[in-house]
Amino acid sequence: MSSSKPRKPVERFLSFIPLAGGRSALILHVGKLTQGYWISEVGSAIGGRGFELEKVPTREGVKEVYHVHVSADGASCDCPGGTYHGHCKHANAIRKLMERGTLPPAGAGALALPVAA
Ligand SMILES: [Zn+2]
Repeated sequence: MSSSKPRKPVERFLSFIPLAGGRSALILHVGKLTQGYWISEVGSAIGGRGFELEKVPTREGVKEVYHVHVSADGASCDCPGGTYHGHCKHANAIRKLMERGTLPPAGAGALALPVAA
């Protein structure tokens, strides 16, 4: 007789808290893990939209910042998961927020990058 238990799917959800000043709070829940990020739109020099996610709280002396780029082709991230596996929770979260219309549209409160004429 098999003794394997049915595996419970990992619960995933996220919270997005818009704040004044162009910076918002993002909280990712994966299973029992909860991780908070400061998220701000930093613009993108190559088209699409660029976001910066700063992990909070940071370990002392270690600032962990990831960059998510969203284009028509999908979302990419420069964290180890995004770099080596092509997908990660950061890119997924940003994509989900955009699909839901939770993130303000591009340009609203975004820090525009200087564009060479
Ligand atoms: Zn990532």
